[in-house]
Amino acid sequence: MPYGRQSIDQADIDAVVAVLESDWLTTGPAVDRFEEAAREVTGARHALACSNGTAGLHLATLALELGSGDALIVPTLTFLATANCARYVGAEVIFADVDPETALIEPHHLEEALARAGDLRPVAVAPVHFGGQVADLQGLSAVARTSGLHVMEDACHALGGTYTHDGKQVRVGACADSDLAVFSLHPVKTATMAEGGIVTTNDDRLAERVARLRTHGTIREPSGWSDRDQGFTDGMANAWYYEMPEVGLNYRASDLHCALGATQLSRLNHFVTRRAELVAAYDAALAPFSPAIRPVGRRPDQMPGWHLFIALIDFEALGTTRAAVMAALREEGIGTQVHYLPVHRQPYYRDRYGSLDLPGADAFYERCLSLPLFPGMEDDDVRRVVEALTRACGL
Ligand SMILES: *Cc1c(COP(=O)(O)O)cnc(C)c1O
Repeated sequence: MPYGRQSIDQADIDAVVAVLESDWLTTGPAVDRFEEAAREVTGARHALACSNGTAGLHLATLALELGSGDALIVPTLTFLATANCARYVGAEVIFADVDPETALIEPHHLEEALARAGDLRPVAVAPVHFGGQVADLQGLSAVARTSGLHVMEDACHALGGTYTHDGKQVRVGACADSDLAVFSLHPVKTATMAEGGIVTTNDDRLAERVARLRTHGTIREPSGWSDRDQGFTDGMANAWYYEMPEVGLNYRASDLHCALGATQLSRLNHFVTRRAELVAAYDAALAPFSPAIRPVGRRPDQMPGWHLFIALIDFEALGTTRAAVMAALREEGIGTQVHYLPVHRQPYYRDRYGSLDLPGADAFYERCLSLPLFPGMEDDDVRRVVEALTRACGL
């Protein structure tokens, strides 16, 4: 039993095969269909498919025009890509601490990170919806507004979740409190395209920039061209012409990937519901072992699209180590994972910014263990995992 795994059904397979038999393997109609489905499930005005979540984050930092001397504020408890996307565009990373129980960045962590900016110009913050729980976006965006920061959500964990905005439930990716949101559809995430990502935004200008930057920085629409001499003959658009006002990348998602993504999104509600049931089953099964083993802390007023089920375990008090517990579970065929070593502790960032004191992230990291969570699990699998875990912990 791995810690995460995709759910592929016959409709997914048929959709991919249909693309293989069609005229368009890329830049075709499956991309439009997928983007339409992505707009529907997020509620955003624009949804742009891209080659993976990391590419989506890179496109976001490019679209927001981060560059040398600028800084992106990133909670240190995240996957590498949240920080790396600043470095791709020459910007610096200011690592923020997180809550030791939820691993989420709180508004006071953002304020504290801003206070450490020194000579850097903080341009944006990238809240991470860790494990699927949504960070306090209203609180963070209030701080961002007063500090002139953009908000780009790293929503790679949180597809299909909802949270409360001004007393109403809004969907993650609707960008009610942000400029952009980025999703990953890697196989361990809630829905998959094998490799794929989505950038959502309600801002027409940002959407246009993301669309352009993901395909070499080119504009195909004649209305967007600035060079009339090269673009037109006798007032008619030249069929061969496209214009490149700035340098971009090839970060497109193919029709094969998008066809898979679209059938997966059609089952998103099922995936989210099943994951929530399994999380509730874990909560109940672990309750007798508190405080030595506890589920990750909860934020109120939301229905998370759970990506991970994380147990916080006091390995020291139990007289064991995480490595020993993981090895014992592996012996029983149960895969677990650690999300994540705080990114500021990676040698690259430690060499660049020195040792930082981010005690909330360290405290979370010391105790966290991600247990198997994927829609194909049976209720009985939860019982089996918890029994094996408690045995491995000597309980
Ligand atoms: C998975 C993930 C990414 C990167 O997504 P890819 O599709 O694997 O490139 C970025 N940020 C977080 C928090 C992730 O979990």
